[in-house]
Amino acid sequence: MAGTDEPDRASWLQGAAARCNPQPGKVDRPWRLILLGPPGVGKGTQAELLHRRLLACHLSTGDVFRTVGTKAECDLSPAMKAALDYMRRGDLVPDSIVWEMLLERGNCLRCGGGFLLDGFPRTLHQAESLRRQLENQNITLHAVVNYELPIEEIVHRLSGRRTCKNCKAVYHLTDRPPKLPDVCDLCGGALSQREDDRPESVKVRLEAYAEKTAPLIEFYRDLKLLLSVSAAGTPDEICTRTIEALQQRAKQSPAHT
Ligand code: AMP
Repeated sequence: MAGTDEPDRASWLQGAAARCNPQPGKVDRPWRLILLGPPGVGKGTQAELLHRRLLACHLSTGDVFRTVGTKAECDLSPAMKAALDYMRRGDLVPDSIVWEMLLERGNCLRCGGGFLLDGFPRTLHQAESLRRQLENQNITLHAVVNYELPIEEIVHRLSGRRTCKNCKAVYHLTDRPPKLPDVCDLCGGALSQREDDRPESVKVRLEAYAEKTAPLIEFYRDLKLLLSVSAAGTPDEICTRTIEALQQRAKQSPAHT
């Protein structure tokens, strides 16, 4: 399951014209998963850890918007400028913009190493569009991992979260501190609080989740893809729990393609 090649998500973060380097290693059994759960539950951290174990590429729509947000204002399309305004407020970006951005990166869904979709889909409309797209392209989605955690713990995780501006690695002030304050262990980049992790945006994000994203749980339960996993404990414990749940599922459906 594990390997040393580290795809750098260039095609995902910068768009189809960019080439991933190095290319993903050979994966015997690619996993194609959606990570679901409220903001702050730790999907990004789990995606990083799962990526190291399964080699599937971590495809975060939030990371794409944040990468776009580092470009000069004049290089942004009107749609992207509007998307960034939604994001700063903690609101969901309109489905049409998100879907167009995803279609531009359609190759990432066909990547031989598999994928871990983090933060997409977030509405029933997005979920339905993705279902049709995968079906048309004959791509099998293996499971939707739904991370569960009490609301107080979610607020604690969001308020202490710090992210590397450079490589996007995720830390927590008390639960997963960097070795040196405000410095990324992996690349030495500066750590900062995401604009949308401030209290006023957190409230909007949790409301958006409850209203628009939580209904996806039933959607994927009906499709028999839902795999609920407790997000309590350390990142490594949660990752191990996730892998065990996936292995269990793979045993039950040996025709994993
Ligand atoms: P995340 O890093 O996944 O929490 O995403 C950060 C922000 O990006 C969200 O609060 C939204 O504003 C925007 N965003 C990311 N993914 C989506 C999506 N699938 N649909 C709508 N907005 C999104």
